[in-house]
Parts: sequence; structure tokens; C-alpha cells
Amino acid sequence: MNINCDDPLALAADLFCEQPMDTDSIAAAVKEILNAIGEDSEREGLIKTPQRVANSYKELLAGYRMDPRALINDAVFDVAYDQMVIVRDIEFYSLCEHHMLPFMGRAHVAYIPSDKVIGLSKIPRIVDLFSRRLQVQERMTTQIAEYLDVVLKPKGVAVVVEGLHMCMMLRGVKKHDARMTTSAMLGAFRRDISTRMEFLDNISRGAERLNI
Ligand SMILES: [Zn+2]
Repeated sequence: MNINCDDPLALAADLFCEQPMDTDSIAAAVKEILNAIGEDSEREGLIKTPQRVANSYKELLAGYRMDPRALINDAVFDVAYDQMVIVRDIEFYSLCEHHMLPFMGRAHVAYIPSDKVIGLSKIPRIVDLFSRRLQVQERMTTQIAEYLDVVLKPKGVAVVVEGLHMCMMLRGVKKHDARMTTSAMLGAFRRDISTRMEFLDNISRGAERLNI
């Protein structure tokens, strides 16, 4: 991957460009955690756990190193279409940055094109770009909206994210059903109530309850 970190797209993607993930250090740290818990990190079931955890972080936190140019390559088109485009119910999985526990749910994304549209399959990839990091849901929501704003320069972008947070469900307050909804509205979606309502009506229509 060869990305110029001053590139507006790389900046919008908020990448850590510098180096590959240091899985050896992660594995060593996980081994320390196992021993600190009081486990025997050398026993059969755990012997490969540090490396497995390190490898799983590579996947769960891949968003820091996704190439934002390759992501949208050949998928931005000039089209004379100026109506709202909505992609709803995009599954996402992320890790909360406060506890490194998963949060997951659905993202709904809409935009109103100026003169560019993006291939529909790319929008879930953009959600991955920002969800596969250590995150807070509020920031993830804003980043998805701002990235689309940079890529498409549309008349407006709207993102609503509904998430279930393991850190709330498993520990602390143990609110099993607590789900969090965050939104980011830019341009026409922020200015114009009827535009915003059209989007919100659409995503609430036939929406299933969020569960795991
Ligand atoms: Zn948390």
C-alpha cells in the first residue's frame, strides 16, 4: 500500500499510514495478560492464543490500513441523478476504544448526489473502513458522513448508526437491551427538515429490532 498521508482522501480516512501492525508485540502482550489473570499461558488450550488474538486484531482493526483509493477505485460515476440514494441495514462490527469489547449493529447511509454517485457495494466497505478500528460510535458515524462528503461532494449526506455495546451488556450497568443511536447530518439533511424526515421515515419503515 502506498498512500500519501497528506492526500485529502487519506486525511478523511484518518489513516495510520506509517507501519504494519506489530503482531509479535500484541502476542507478547496477550501472553502477559494471560499470566496476569493467573492462567497458565503454556497450557495446551492457551499456547497458541496470543498469536490467534494478534491475528484476529489484524482483521478486526484492518480499517487503519485500508487503502481509501483502492476502496472507491472505478466506482465513482458521473450521473445526472439528484434524488436521494439510501443504503440501509449495513451490518458492522467494531471494538469500543474504552474497553476493547465489541459493539455491533447497523448503519444507514444516504446522500443526495450533485453530479457523482458511488457504486452501492462500496458503501458497506466505507462503513468497514471506519468500524474496523478502536472506535466510539459517535465518531464512527461522523467519519462515515465526512468521508462520503469528501469523495462525492454531494448536496447532503446522512448517516444513522444503531449499535449494541458489549461493554454495556456484559459489565457495569448490564443493560442487555441498551442500544445506542447516533446520527450525522450534513448539507441538505441538516438544513431541510423534510429531507431529513424522508430519510428517517425510510429507515424506520419495516425496521427489525436490533438483536444479536
Ligand atoms: Zn466500552
